[in-house]
Amino acid sequence: MPSPHRTLRGPALSPGAAAPTPGAAALLRWDDALIEIDAQGAITAIGPAPADCPVPTTHPDCVLLPGLVDTHLHFPQTRVIGSASGPLLEWLERSVFPEEARFAEVAYAAEVAREFCDALIAQGTTCAAIYGSSHPVASAVLFAELERRGLRATLGPALMDRNAPNEVLLEASAALDACAALVERWHGCDRGRLRVSIVPRFALSCTTPLMRGAADLAAQHGLWIQTHIAENHGEIAATAAAFPDARDYLAVYEEHGLVGARTILAHCIWLSDSEWDRVASADATVAHCPDSNFFLGSGRMTLGRATTRGIRVGLGTDIGAGRSFSVRRIAASAYDNALVVGDPVDAERLLWLATTGGARALGLGDVVGRLAPGFDADIIAVPRPRVDDAGLVDALLFRHDAPPVAATYVRGTRLA
Ligand SMILES: [Zn+2]
Repeated sequence: MPSPHRTLRGPALSPGAAAPTPGAAALLRWDDALIEIDAQGAITAIGPAPADCPVPTTHPDCVLLPGLVDTHLHFPQTRVIGSASGPLLEWLERSVFPEEARFAEVAYAAEVAREFCDALIAQGTTCAAIYGSSHPVASAVLFAELERRGLRATLGPALMDRNAPNEVLLEASAALDACAALVERWHGCDRGRLRVSIVPRFALSCTTPLMRGAADLAAQHGLWIQTHIAENHGEIAATAAAFPDARDYLAVYEEHGLVGARTILAHCIWLSDSEWDRVASADATVAHCPDSNFFLGSGRMTLGRATTRGIRVGLGTDIGAGRSFSVRRIAASAYDNALVVGDPVDAERLLWLATTGGARALGLGDVVGRLAPGFDADIIAVPRPRVDDAGLVDALLFRHDAPPVAATYVRGTRLA
């Protein structure tokens, strides 16, 4: 047996192989686990530490969990978090577009990229699906920072060629050429830790040639597609007016070749049954962003409409309409959201969504999201709340005053 590159020891919690079902425990628990990690950063073994184990507890008073997965957030909105200028379309105009325009400047983008990565690491987010601004250079700057800091991410510039100020628009062919250059430089970097995705912001901001070209580029390179759908009534009405021949919102994306098993759809609040059925049959995935939905007054997505159809769902902070980089905080918001819609969800299922569920929604379900042999050692150490074992998962997710994580590891390397 090769000796491990690194060993972590401590109480641990992880989703098991099976998805949680009502009443069935979905999490594996170890009172004192020993996790062995090889030189490539993969977990080779996890099990109870022996009584005479010479390895000290790595992070005293903490619980080890899989790293958290954020399936939807916006890099260039880092500095407009908390702007109460909604609803959606007004918020974009008043708060978002003026800020995103600043990302044409490399020095500004670089400064915010450092803050952005600091915030992810501090909250234990090891993997994120990120929208850039429309400026390809800002995405290149963020890729360089993500590479340096060791985070795992999927990222692309937000594609926009209409219905916004000129400073945040980029004409279709220039935008797609820039995406192709980003693919060349960054896609698959560090054994797949970084991936380029294709990000038509939403149908309202994209012409038909841009959406068609985006779909072609994604198909050509096997890239993931990220977009927004059915967030807000004003947005839905404007989309219907802009695409009068489409039968509904999802059809706009379907007709442009943007809906498939590598498509992440954010929000999905107001989808019809037909649209939900088609999301399921396309095997597209959903980023559930309840805190953002509360803050912009967008509405409530009913989680069960996705999960009962077998649709892959992850949690999204949706920075900066969401008010926190903490995926744990978003899990608490998802709990509240589920109560409001009368379809409650428990903490174990939410922890599953925040880890394995998010990983599956990003096509990484065999790579991260669990503490198990063969999975990459993306692990966080979370200060253990003072609570008995029965209440541990609730307390890990639902105590807003909990301190940030004590340590964040990707492939067994501690990030700073
Ligand atoms: Zn968003």
